[in-house]
Amino acid sequence: MIPFLDLKAQYSQIKPEIDAAVARVIGSGHFVLGPEVTAFEGRFAEYCRTAHCRAVNSGTSALHLALLAAGVRPGDEVITVSMTFVATTAAILYSGARPVFVDVDPVTWTMDPGLVEAAITPRTKAILPVHLHGLMADMDPIMEIARRHGLVVIEDAAQAHGAEYRGRRAGSIGDLGCFSFYPGKNLGAFGEGGAVVTDRPEFARRVSLLRDWGQEAKYDHVIAGYNYRMDEIQSAVLNVKLDYIEHWTDARRSLAERYNALLSGLPFARPQPPQHARHVYHVYAVRLERRDDALKLLRDAGIGAGIHYPVPVHLQRAYAELGYRAGDLPVTEMLANDFLSLPIYPELLPEQAAEVVGILRSAAALQPSVAISTRLEHPQSFMTWSHNRRAS
Ligand SMILES: *Cc1c(COP(=O)(O)O)cnc(C)c1O
Repeated sequence: MIPFLDLKAQYSQIKPEIDAAVARVIGSGHFVLGPEVTAFEGRFAEYCRTAHCRAVNSGTSALHLALLAAGVRPGDEVITVSMTFVATTAAILYSGARPVFVDVDPVTWTMDPGLVEAAITPRTKAILPVHLHGLMADMDPIMEIARRHGLVVIEDAAQAHGAEYRGRRAGSIGDLGCFSFYPGKNLGAFGEGGAVVTDRPEFARRVSLLRDWGQEAKYDHVIAGYNYRMDEIQSAVLNVKLDYIEHWTDARRSLAERYNALLSGLPFARPQPPQHARHVYHVYAVRLERRDDALKLLRDAGIGAGIHYPVPVHLQRAYAELGYRAGDLPVTEMLANDFLSLPIYPELLPEQAAEVVGILRSAAALQPSVAISTRLEHPQSFMTWSHNRRAS
């Protein structure tokens, strides 16, 4: 039995500190937006190398408020990707704007900057790239396009705490960055949580107001806001865990290297982070032909594998009214068919990674050795392949 994720293993390592922190909050009688939240905001801003951080009650709320703070309004368009968790799209819809999807790059699996400019219209207000699986999107060209067209950039860094792009931290390159502290994320609370980071004081101020009913002072509501406040217990837990995040990230990165080594020679495409990237491996995904057979083999062997994500947002029934169809985003749709996420968490043992790959090896024996990696390394032939596959 190897679970996909083991939150109890992490808790057992830091139990005395966590229990003391939670007890301190309970004893204080101060439960929402208090000293733990303020301390966490200062420390998380420093961690992200931004001037400001505002903690909220989920990653989805962080995205929603970042969009509102940036001035996104009903009727606007926001360019984003469909290879993500639905929250990215949902937050855009909450703001009243329309999500416009561009395809992802076949090697990095993040927003393809080469497709962004063609998606810009007079209504476009913002670009919202997603740092999928812990690898940051190609931010330099995205920022360059945004600056040239006067657009705001909001990073969905919900899977990318501490990730880096050319030495810069996730959340610090765009105008605003959004994080989730959902328990399974790389930095997880004991419940829901999220944060917005930014260098711009006016954006931080707007998020502060919006998350707490638009109150400047008690019962003085200057704008129409929300109840998106973070509670003290979550911040107390996060304050403890923040001391360990670098250590845990290093553990994820060395497990990913271990997987890379174990998988070499097998017909699976592995993550290929560019030289300049610090990938933080929220998810370690491979791509393979007959993915569903491999997934079944793993699950039958008691191994918690997953798919992130099996149905892209633009093909979800809930978002049918956006008007997208199968074939609109060929790379995204192919990844949804090929992706397989292997267990990865700081406490996973190298022997367990070897056991997972052992099962995959038998899955590989079952499949014709069509090397997906070949397609991946030659995006041109891969595009032709995916086009033919659609046509047939
Ligand atoms: C988890 C996640 C979110 C939403 O965060 P919640 O805290 O669950 O609301 C948004 N975007 C991405 C890419 C995520 O992985």
